[in-house]
Amino acid sequence: MIVTVTMNPSIDISYPLATLKIDTVNRTNKVTKTAGGKGLNVTRVIHDLGGDVLATGVLGGFHGAYIAEELKKAGIKQDFTPIAEESRDSIAILHEGNQTEILESGPTVSKDEQAAFLEKFEELIKQADIVTISGSLAKGFPPDFYQKLVQIAQQHVVKVLVDTSGESLKQVITAKQKPYLIKPNLEELEALLGQAFSLEELDDIQAALSQPLFEGIEWIVVSLGKHGAIAKYQDTFYRVKIPKIQVVNPVGSGDSTIAGFAYGLSKAMPPMDLLKMCMATGMANAQENKTGHVDPANVKNHFEKINVKKI
Ligand code: ADP
Repeated sequence: MIVTVTMNPSIDISYPLATLKIDTVNRTNKVTKTAGGKGLNVTRVIHDLGGDVLATGVLGGFHGAYIAEELKKAGIKQDFTPIAEESRDSIAILHEGNQTEILESGPTVSKDEQAAFLEKFEELIKQADIVTISGSLAKGFPPDFYQKLVQIAQQHVVKVLVDTSGESLKQVITAKQKPYLIKPNLEELEALLGQAFSLEELDDIQAALSQPLFEGIEWIVVSLGKHGAIAKYQDTFYRVKIPKIQVVNPVGSGDSTIAGFAYGLSKAMPPMDLLKMCMATGMANAQENKTGHVDPANVKNHFEKINVKKI
């Protein structure tokens, strides 16, 4: 089973507007509300692919109940720790080809609630083969919280795929117990290393990933949007090139990449196929209206056309 961790889930609300008028009223009758947060996108996509997945994390208040209900309606297994404060809303206003977002920072999770979650995680991990950890931590969590989860997972020989950024990513990769995979996009890698990269100079990325900081992390997939990815598995580097596609909504493609990788891993795919699988899943998401959703037939179609080369 694949367990997905979402420590700051949200109701993702999208308001499409012909034009966004400032300092006056904007009205819309086309609202969509979905269970969101990066980890829940990963969950839905694994479920779309037919994988065995369970979502965990923390949920609070009426918003939390709504998210739980949405997952239930989709037939997705879940086991969340309840919290006192309300889970958040994330608002995206789609107007004139732009996406203006208003993101709440979300609830504060108390020490007792954190301890209750850790206890649940220790239990769930016993039934898991793979764990994915995605997105930001809610307020109240120490920055090394993900590191703790990696440590618990490793004690149970469970592979952990981590997709986070900033301080949480730094903490996870500098800890003694390393995650099995990290998937920074180019911007996140640049922020992590304080170094700028160019797509024309992939050698620089290769050199950067060879530094001791990344030792012990089996897989590093640097996703490059429409340019595919550069990846390192143990000591081997791969360049993944993807065909040009018609994009509808690329939001959640990074989450779908994690979902494709976790699914491929659960099916014991060899390294090159894992790369094809995770790229194909990211691409298929970019061709859907709904964030964190793929058509498995489209994933299969892309899979056949992706080029992976050792470099
Ligand atoms: P993130 O969403 O984390 O920033 P990326 O933008 O790198 O991640 O997207 C992850 C993967 O999704 C890419 O490696 C690619 O396979 C696919 N993808 C994303 N955007 C596009 C696009 N515009 N065209 C084709 N594939 C895309």
